[in-house]
Amino acid sequence: MKPTLHTAHLSQGRATSRLLLDRIVHPRSVAVLGASDNVAKFGGRITSFLVKHGFTGELFPINRQATEILGRKAYPNMSELPSAPDVAILAVPGATLHQNLVAAADAGVGCCVIISTGFAELDSEGAQRQAAIVELSARTGMRILGPNCMGMIVPHHKMALCSSVTLNTDTLGDGSIGLISQSGALMVSMFDRAKADGIGLRYGISCGNQSDLEICDFIDHMVAEPETRAICVYCEGFVDAARFKRSAAACRAAGKPLLMVKTGRTAAGVVAAQSHTASLAGSFEAFAALCREQGVLLPKSTDDMIRTAHILTRFPGRRSVPGVGVVSSSGGGAGIASDRLSEAGLPLAKIERATIDKLEEKLLSPQAQNPIDLGGRKVPETVDITTDCTATLLADPHVGYGFAVLASMPFYSQRALRIAEAVHASGKPSLVALTVGALADEARRELRQRGIFYTDGFEDSLRILALLAENDDTRGLVETPAARPAGLSAVGALPKFREGLQTESEVKQLLASYGVAVAKESLAPTPEAAGEAAAKLGFPVVLKVSSRDIVHKSDVGAVRLGLADAAALVAAAREMTTRVKAAAPNATIDGFSVQEMVRGEAEVIVGVRRDPQFGPIVIVGLGGVTVEILHDVAVATAPVRQAHVVKMIDSLKTAPLFKGARGRPPLDVEAIANAVERISWLAHDLGARLVDLEVNPLIVGAAGEGATAVDGRANIAAAS
Ligand code: ADP
Ligand code: MG
Repeated sequence: MKPTLHTAHLSQGRATSRLLLDRIVHPRSVAVLGASDNVAKFGGRITSFLVKHGFTGELFPINRQATEILGRKAYPNMSELPSAPDVAILAVPGATLHQNLVAAADAGVGCCVIISTGFAELDSEGAQRQAAIVELSARTGMRILGPNCMGMIVPHHKMALCSSVTLNTDTLGDGSIGLISQSGALMVSMFDRAKADGIGLRYGISCGNQSDLEICDFIDHMVAEPETRAICVYCEGFVDAARFKRSAAACRAAGKPLLMVKTGRTAAGVVAAQSHTASLAGSFEAFAALCREQGVLLPKSTDDMIRTAHILTRFPGRRSVPGVGVVSSSGGGAGIASDRLSEAGLPLAKIERATIDKLEEKLLSPQAQNPIDLGGRKVPETVDITTDCTATLLADPHVGYGFAVLASMPFYSQRALRIAEAVHASGKPSLVALTVGALADEARRELRQRGIFYTDGFEDSLRILALLAENDDTRGLVETPAARPAGLSAVGALPKFREGLQTESEVKQLLASYGVAVAKESLAPTPEAAGEAAAKLGFPVVLKVSSRDIVHKSDVGAVRLGLADAAALVAAAREMTTRVKAAAPNATIDGFSVQEMVRGEAEVIVGVRRDPQFGPIVIVGLGGVTVEILHDVAVATAPVRQAHVVKMIDSLKTAPLFKGARGRPPLDVEAIANAVERISWLAHDLGARLVDLEVNPLIVGAAGEGATAVDGRANIAAAS
């Protein structure tokens, strides 16, 4: 039977109050629809894993034929259960799913976990089937996890509500990291891999298509709960980006690291996400800007995500000392490690004289530095030297992070253990990399047993260190919410404008009404009128053709700079008319724009656009060819504070040019920041009408000389 959107046949459901999330992740009772003792089937595996891992709540296997499954009394259907289960997991064919959901709602089930696929992630009919589920959920109060998910693993509740064969293990492993994943297969894989790394997770939640319960529901639960100390999310798309921003801000306020791997980094990733869980990936740059502002880390891989979260739970809090202290048992290892650290932008700590003196009691002078080379000893080799030197280095106040690169050395496993312990005792976030093969096998076992994380080889450690440093770097965080600049009138003060593409002078009027300095200009219908206008403005002037149809005026010869007198101007206007008509025969030409010739030190681009998910975003960078070749722009969510714009500019590759390099004066960054702030408010006030608006260039003078918009384009949608 194909489910339909027609709701008349649906049960009116029992008007349950919506079950609290805490109860959904810690249910007192679970029903498995499609339970069996055949582990080749989904329902069979789910039942067996619930039993195997000792679920302590009530378990209701539901199976039409059996009276008992794995020693538990089985029931033929939902309506015959002795009490309404908190959670039911439905391992049934898609065709019977909807009627089973209706029965579950009738039986008063609190939350249904739907593992079936073939919904919004598949096609429009699937989307309709999903809409019917959402409708049932909204009407009856029964919560839905999924569809297209793999359930939940909650070790501290001894609950493996999931069919993955990875659960065929003796223990689930428990920890303080909450993991939420849209992809079910990834969730169980991450869980399993974390365990192989000796990292326990507190939750593994797979939320699939997020038809009802969504990522943010779980983030919010985990933020509020003290036992979860870091949150990891694999996300393909957001149900509500504004809510995500609030959830991320709550994590930051609670001091809980939030780490995310999100698809859609590249265009290829976007396609994969669409075809996977039916969520549209928002523009990655807008998302990344939001994450930077709220302190959300974006590791590139799920391994890096879980491992970094683990270190962050071990060494909580943000630190302000950026230097790394490196210990190695090989000069070569120490050398490579320091090269790679500096490539990754992680400075080696400059340690104090007192630390060096102390190290020199045991090590030869050239080795008693950061990095320490344990091979260069003054005294006989002992395990103690290793420990003492490590502790001494890490105690230095300029060392923020520790990194032990353990190449071949005598007493390998004892020393590796002692170094790892010294590293942990330091209280500074530290990584241990084992760079040998079989020699480290015993150390691997021992470290694992003691719950000390290590990596094989140092590349993995380097990426984690970089993420730790990023977490501690608070420069990108938004400190205070944006406030309307003084003197900028509230919404409603927008001048009248027409919809669609705007001419340069229309954009400049909008900008001027928001207090952005624009080049003085006059519009003139004829070359002669342009001449008169120029005389009033004062020579030299700039002449442009005014047309909303020409996006890049210079490309068609529609811009002339530095015209010195009326005769030159009139001649240029005539010539320009001929040239533009030939190059852009279909463009409607409104006339000429005669402008003051603005002088400055640099050209900057400022743009705003409305992202369908994340709302208005603003960019700033050096304009002209630089932006086209380097793509060096900083992105933020709008509106933005002037102080934040200064930090954005600081984050550019071209930042030194703003500060004044090679004899060039520093630019008027304050004036740029002021213009960007105002343009970001214009974007905010245009609301849904903003498609995009760009100033290229804003001509910027040296510090104190100001910044003036000389060109602008915008697309503004009709009011809805
Ligand atoms: P386009 O449509 O090709 O981007 P612009 O209006 O940006 O045309 O003009 C092209 C270039 O001419 C600008 O990048 C800037 O260098 C210069 N320019 C334009 N207007 C002015 C002005 N009023 N004062 C000084 N230079 C200007
Ligand atoms: Mg331009």
